[in-house]
Amino acid sequence: MFVRVAVPIPSVQTFTYAVPEMFISAIAVGKRVLVPFGKRQVTGFIVELLDEVVCNQRVREILDLPDPEPLFNTEDLIFYEWISRYYLHPLGKVLGEILPGGIAIQSERWLCRSDGAATPDHRLSGRQKEILEHLTDCPKGIPLSRLRGALGKSDLYGDLHFLEAAGLVISEERLNRPAVRPKKEKWVALCPALPTGLSLTAKQSALVRFLRERGEMPVIDLHDFFKNPLAALRTLENKGILRVFDKEVSRGPAPAPTIGKNENGISLNDAQTMVLDEVRKCIASGRFSPCLLYGVTGSGKTEVYLRAIAEVLGGGGGAIYLVPEIALTAQLLSRIGSRFPKQEIAVLHSGISQSARYDQWKRIRRGEVRVVVGARSALFAPAPNLRLIVVDEEHDPSYKQDDRLRYNARDLALVRGRFAETTVILGSATPAIQSYFHAVEGRYRVLTLPARIDDRPLPRVEVVDLRSERDERGLTPLLSRTLIEAIRKTLADGRQTLLFLNRRGFHTYLFCPDCGHVFSCPNCDISLTHHASEAVLKCHHCDFTVKIASRCPSCKGSRVRSYGAGTERVEEEVKKLFPTARIARMDSDTTPRPGDSGRILRDLDRGEIDILIGTQMITKGHDFPAITLVGVVAADASLNIPDFRAAERTFQILTQVSGRGGRGDQPGRVVIQTFTPDHYSIRRAQEHDYAGFFADELPLRRQLAYPPFSRLIGLQFSSLKKEEGKRAVAEFGARARELALTMTGGKTEVIGPAESPLARIRGRYRWQLLLKGKESRSLHLLSQKLLEGAGHDGLEIQIDVDPVNFM
Ligand code: ADP
Ligand code: ZN
Repeated sequence: MFVRVAVPIPSVQTFTYAVPEMFISAIAVGKRVLVPFGKRQVTGFIVELLDEVVCNQRVREILDLPDPEPLFNTEDLIFYEWISRYYLHPLGKVLGEILPGGIAIQSERWLCRSDGAATPDHRLSGRQKEILEHLTDCPKGIPLSRLRGALGKSDLYGDLHFLEAAGLVISEERLNRPAVRPKKEKWVALCPALPTGLSLTAKQSALVRFLRERGEMPVIDLHDFFKNPLAALRTLENKGILRVFDKEVSRGPAPAPTIGKNENGISLNDAQTMVLDEVRKCIASGRFSPCLLYGVTGSGKTEVYLRAIAEVLGGGGGAIYLVPEIALTAQLLSRIGSRFPKQEIAVLHSGISQSARYDQWKRIRRGEVRVVVGARSALFAPAPNLRLIVVDEEHDPSYKQDDRLRYNARDLALVRGRFAETTVILGSATPAIQSYFHAVEGRYRVLTLPARIDDRPLPRVEVVDLRSERDERGLTPLLSRTLIEAIRKTLADGRQTLLFLNRRGFHTYLFCPDCGHVFSCPNCDISLTHHASEAVLKCHHCDFTVKIASRCPSCKGSRVRSYGAGTERVEEEVKKLFPTARIARMDSDTTPRPGDSGRILRDLDRGEIDILIGTQMITKGHDFPAITLVGVVAADASLNIPDFRAAERTFQILTQVSGRGGRGDQPGRVVIQTFTPDHYSIRRAQEHDYAGFFADELPLRRQLAYPPFSRLIGLQFSSLKKEEGKRAVAEFGARARELALTMTGGKTEVIGPAESPLARIRGRYRWQLLLKGKESRSLHLLSQKLLEGAGHDGLEIQIDVDPVNFM
């Protein structure tokens, strides 16, 4: 017997291995295997069982089969293989990425100093001496990766080869220990047939009676009922009356805090009822049914999702419910938790520990939990009998993963839905242009919730033109008079204010007004962000941090000052204006750990915060009835980025953040500050006019042949060396143009290569190239061809199918 194994390496190939006799009964698709690979041992995934192999090469044997049960089945695998092909990412790497991490056993090359022959020193280069010195300090040896890190050099192969040949260094493959293993607990149970005629102490008989009533249970729990039960337990075990055994237990994420009211007795309004009826029909059809639920903010979409999930559960099926970000899940989880039995829900997102993720994964696979909630990666959950996928806030860019496997969970939800023949609901108050376009074209069923619950009005939106605002010093103020007045009034009314700052492309930096010097990152091509509270400057790409300098390094001037408006600056300003208000800030700096944002939202919910200042994090999905004022500090920030979706993003952000206001019985008010009050994205947001925005935007897309009128594949290049990189990228571009002509008959447009807007990150120079065409297939073929034989010259190439981020 043989197996085909996908190994997590950058190659599309899979590999064949023989299965030794001892493993044959346990072998299955979806299990991991430890296999020899070159000189190393790696963990791969079984993707096919083969009775015989055609070519009669020497086939190596698998070494171990660690999983008692498969992590995926052949149906899941079809989906995973599709992902591998579409995103041009090797299957082994796709599996390594999708499956719960931390479980792979691998070998790594370790190096130690050999005690033997000493060679005269003059034969060694400086680098080689450095290596030897380092190894002498590590008598037990050191993995190659750590040696590289310690010496800050990646190209050690030549020197190591020399040192090995000289007998000074020994290298060997050693297996690592996986970071995650199943968690076991000691349990106790009575033996089925109890021996008779035994004399037991009072305590021993009490224990036996207790276990007879309770059934098997964790040993640790016995301590709650008996004092020092262990001795009695051991005696009873020796007498063959009970047995103590290991039981695998599931680790889950910490329970979510309760936020907001959890109303279970809501009766749906007419619009919701109609939408739910449609969804029910889709689910009952048992066919692939893609739907776009377009419902304004606060129209009761979430309520519809929850009912649809209940419907699916009632029919014995499973559901996946995707939300854009962890910050969003706290409130939602609390809402879901009150609807469905806790043990029916699994939560998967990148914020939970690897071990919890591994355990949840297995419970889903076994069908023990049937509702999976989580951020984008939850889409891969191996839910058997999947009947419904909900993609909440489907327009949100965080469904796109921008490193490693660059997938879009919104798009993949439709693919998975097609394979599994399920209903897929994409829901949003501001659908992606692409999604709405497909719906209009009849590819998705359109469901609408046109009004807010109880016909609450959408908030009144005022636009403040910053071009004509001046403070007493004649400068553009951070907060306009209109906004300050509005905050004052909201505070006086005892209501809450949300102040939103679009962080993207907007931050506070330090510069010298005398010579214009801007403090920027030595590794990346961007200015450093000023963090007043820690008195440091920080790079938001590589985390480079320095203390604030009082003198300009360029002209030695002493008038260095900060410019721009980060959330911290806004916070400072608001504190000055409203010293007695309770002010909180929510952004990635104040919420470094997964639970942090949940805590802030809970305080907001309890009315312990008057003014919340934040970035994109606060625009999403939350439902807080006491917020009546929403202020947008600078609406233009997202318009000025080089991205064909800039207007779409701006409209979405403004509409979403406006939608956070006026959800309770008090009407909401929104103040948008901007330098471009006439831009259509801002005007349409002001009017709550999605259809109008769509009508403005679509012709522009058509004119420039951008999606949804074309498809894009992005290629990103990076190199440590500027000139060599630039040359290699130019050659690549020339080849791309030539192949676009010969392979696709000129139907593919090659845009670039050009320097990336962020031209340098972490010391690497960056360029990008776009392939644009109508047909996905020829774009893929062209990309594949281009990648073959590319990637020399120290040039790193990343491929991004359907790119979202163009920075
Ligand atoms: P959306 O997801 O569209 O923003 P939600 O489902 O969160 O809207 O609903 C907004 C608020 O209205 C929530 O507090 C929810 O509990 C409440 N709600 C939803 N449907 C109804 C209904 N039919 N009757 C009364 N309240 C409702
Ligand atoms: Zn940097």
